[in-house]
Amino acid sequence: MRIVRTVADLRAELAPARGAGHSIGLVPTMGYFHEGHLSLMRQARGDCDVVAVSLFLNPTQFGEGEDLDAYPRDERRDARLAEAEGVDLLFTPALEEVYPDGFDTVVAVGGPTAGLDGDARPGHFDGVTTIVTKLLNMACPDVAYFGQKDAQQALVVRKLVRDLDIPVRIAVCPTVREPDGLALSSRNAYLEEAERERALGLSRALRAAERTVAGGRLDAPAVLAAARDELDAAGIDPEYLELRSARDLEPVERVNGSTLLAVAARVGCARLIDNVILGGTP
Ligand code: AMP
Repeated sequence: MRIVRTVADLRAELAPARGAGHSIGLVPTMGYFHEGHLSLMRQARGDCDVVAVSLFLNPTQFGEGEDLDAYPRDERRDARLAEAEGVDLLFTPALEEVYPDGFDTVVAVGGPTAGLDGDARPGHFDGVTTIVTKLLNMACPDVAYFGQKDAQQALVVRKLVRDLDIPVRIAVCPTVREPDGLALSSRNAYLEEAERERALGLSRALRAAERTVAGGRLDAPAVLAAARDELDAAGIDPEYLELRSARDLEPVERVNGSTLLAVAARVGCARLIDNVILGGTP
C-alpha cells in the first residue's frame, strides 16, 4: 500500500489505472478505523480494481465546542489495518493541502440537510459536502463508499452528486455493530465501561421500534413511544428521535414502506448517532 499526502501524488498514482480503464473506489474517512470503516474497504476491494482510502480529520465539519481536538487518531494503526484489507492507496493530506491559504468556498446542499444533525450541528453538512466534493474532485473515483450508520450524510452525498452532476456512483454499506448491538463508531473510544452499557439504549430503542412495526403498529406515536421507553430505561435523553422518509428525509406520521428512525444522544462525552430503516428498503 502506498501512502500519499498531496493531491498531485494521489492523481499521479491513480493516473495509470485510470488510463488502463481500471475502476477506482474511494472510501472517505476521518480515521481511527474500526470494522465499520473496514467493511467499506472490503466492499470497495470486491467491486473495484484500485482502492483508495482518504484519511483526513476534516475540521470544517466540527462545530465550536465539539470534539475535534479530542477525536482519536492513530495513523500508523490505520495504515496497518487498511493495508491488511488490500487497500492500494492511503491518502492522508495535511490541513494546508486541503485548505490552503485563501481557500474560500463552501458547497452547501439543501433538501436532506434540513433537520436531525443539520439542526443539531449547524454548519456540519456544509463541511461534509465541501470536503466530499473536494475528495471526489481529487481522486475522481468511479465509486465512493459511505456507511448507512450516517444515514443523513449518505442521503446528502447522494443529493450532492445528483445536483452537481458529479460522475461517481455512491455506494452505501450497512451499519456494522458489536455483537450486543452497539453501532461501531470512532467516538465509542470516549465511552467508559458504564457509559458503554448505557449507550446500548440506542440500539435497543431501534430494536423496540422494529418489534412494534413487526407487531403491526405503524403510527409514529406508537413506534416512537416504544423507542423512547428503551432510552428512558437506559437514562438517555435524546437530542432527537425522529421518523423520516428514508428517501428524502421528509418527516412522516406513519411507517410506510421505507422509513428511517434516527436517534442522536450524548452519553458521557460521546455524541452518538444510530438509525434503522423500518418497513422495507428505500
Ligand atoms: P468517519 O471516519 O466516521 O467519517 O466514517 C467514515 C465512513 O465510515 C462514513 O461513510 C461512515 O458512515 C462509515 N461508518 C462509520 N461507522 C460505521 C459503521 N458502524 N458501519 C458502517 N459504516 C460506518
